[in-house]
Amino acid sequence: MKKFEIIVVGGGPAAITLAKMLGSKKKMAVIRPENYSMIYCAMPYVIEGLIEIEKTLKKDELVTGSGAELIRSTVTKIDFTHKKVTLLDSSELSFDKLIIATGAVPFIPPVPGSTLKGVSGFKSENDLKNILELIASGLKKAIVVGAGAIGIELAQALSDKGLTVDLIDMGQSILPNLVDKEMTEELVSEIIRKGINLHLQAKVIALAGKEWVEQVELDNGRKIHFDTKDECSEAGDATHDGIVIFAAGMKPEVDLVKESGMDLGRDGIVINNKMETSLPDIYAVGDCTQFTSGITCAVSPGKLATNAVPMAKVLGFNMLGQNRTYPGFFNGAATKVGKFFVGGTGLTESAAVKLGYEVSVGYSEVTTQFPIMPDAKKIYFKLIADKRTRKLLGAQIVSGKPATGEVDLITFAIQKNSTVEDMTALSYSAQPYQSFFPAANGIVLAAEEILKKIY
Ligand SMILES: Cc1cc2nc3c(=O)[nH]c(=O)nc-3n(C[C@H](O)[C@H](O)[C@H](O)COP(=O)(O)OP(=O)(O)OC[C@H]3O[C@@H](n4cnc5c(N)ncnc54)[C@H](O)[C@@H]3O)c2cc1C
Repeated sequence: MKKFEIIVVGGGPAAITLAKMLGSKKKMAVIRPENYSMIYCAMPYVIEGLIEIEKTLKKDELVTGSGAELIRSTVTKIDFTHKKVTLLDSSELSFDKLIIATGAVPFIPPVPGSTLKGVSGFKSENDLKNILELIASGLKKAIVVGAGAIGIELAQALSDKGLTVDLIDMGQSILPNLVDKEMTEELVSEIIRKGINLHLQAKVIALAGKEWVEQVELDNGRKIHFDTKDECSEAGDATHDGIVIFAAGMKPEVDLVKESGMDLGRDGIVINNKMETSLPDIYAVGDCTQFTSGITCAVSPGKLATNAVPMAKVLGFNMLGQNRTYPGFFNGAATKVGKFFVGGTGLTESAAVKLGYEVSVGYSEVTTQFPIMPDAKKIYFKLIADKRTRKLLGAQIVSGKPATGEVDLITFAIQKNSTVEDMTALSYSAQPYQSFFPAANGIVLAAEEILKKIY
């Protein structure tokens, strides 16, 4: 039986990060079933036609370049006592240390009809290729369930391809993990302006059809119909008018460890701040684990690559003899809705209130460049602070220009326990093309508004 010092189960960003760090220093194998690892974040833009699918497929050298062995297979069983894994062809490999990086899969609620053809999630190369093929063969309608970042990006891409798109969410507002409702007004208008039919406070309760999905039923009594035509396409299949895609959250992929006795939480494998599971020599990183908030230390949502990669780095450095700890996830994330760039970090006001914080919030509206500059766009900020400690808890940005720079700056401030006073004292740069007007730094103005309310 072939033996490795380290085996990584998975081929996503967490596994690749570990291979890059450890491949030249340890006898290591990375096991994944896919032909290619993918840049999932870019999938909507392939549908839109902005980039070719080939550009989203990562090269094997990312894993093998460091000396790690890439094994294309699925791990079907882990023997934790004898430290070996079984692959799809029944062969076995033994390990000293095992890293589980099996990621997460789209959550498709088990409503009647959820297994009909034409119903899918949106995560794999297959999901993407199926949608592209259906569009090419004349698909007319799509229902996207979930108005989070992935659902909105997908709905826009499908709409841009000329499909009639319904976007359904059971929540009161869009992007609930990223921004509070009052920040979404212009975003909702933008979605509607694009011709997308937005249904909020509407839950999918059933899907119906013979073999292919033909109808979606909502809990508000509404039914959305597709037609399935009997005439055949060139490939010989009946042609279909519509598809239903669930972008309603991710479910950690933990099937391999369910019976292991390993501590499992509601949202994945329980790990400590060194990525150790409750079993010796078994580690877990990325979307398959239960994330912890760096602010509240409680379980945190947000299955994101920007969490998976830093987790893998902490583990990689520790396996190289360092002593690093992961501080938790601060939820910094971003998306694009029509002409708006949207970002958020930390807790939203509604999440903070639910957690029992007494909050104070401040807003500002400035321009992305000096207002006299021809390309200046509006940018709106909301800052959320704990009224008692005055510590910054979160921030939200809606802007005409990319907002991840501001998101990351504020995330770092939250990470460093900054107070509202600290934010009012932010030392910043200014230049007509590149920044806010010197007297109108959006972060400082929003922080000053909070201070005015507190004193
Ligand atoms: C459409 C879309 C857009 C996204 N946009 C963003 C974004 O803009 N920003 C961001 O930060 N994040 C984004 N994400 C999330 C991001 O892609 C994930 O957080 C990230 O991929 C998680 O990495 P991971 O390595 O933990 O797991 P994954 O990337 O899910 O990889 C898991 C791997 O494990 C393999 N595996 C599972 N079970 C087994 C087994 N039994 N044997 C062998 N291999 C196995 C899988 O096949 C896969 O290769 C997006 C996701 C999607 C789907």
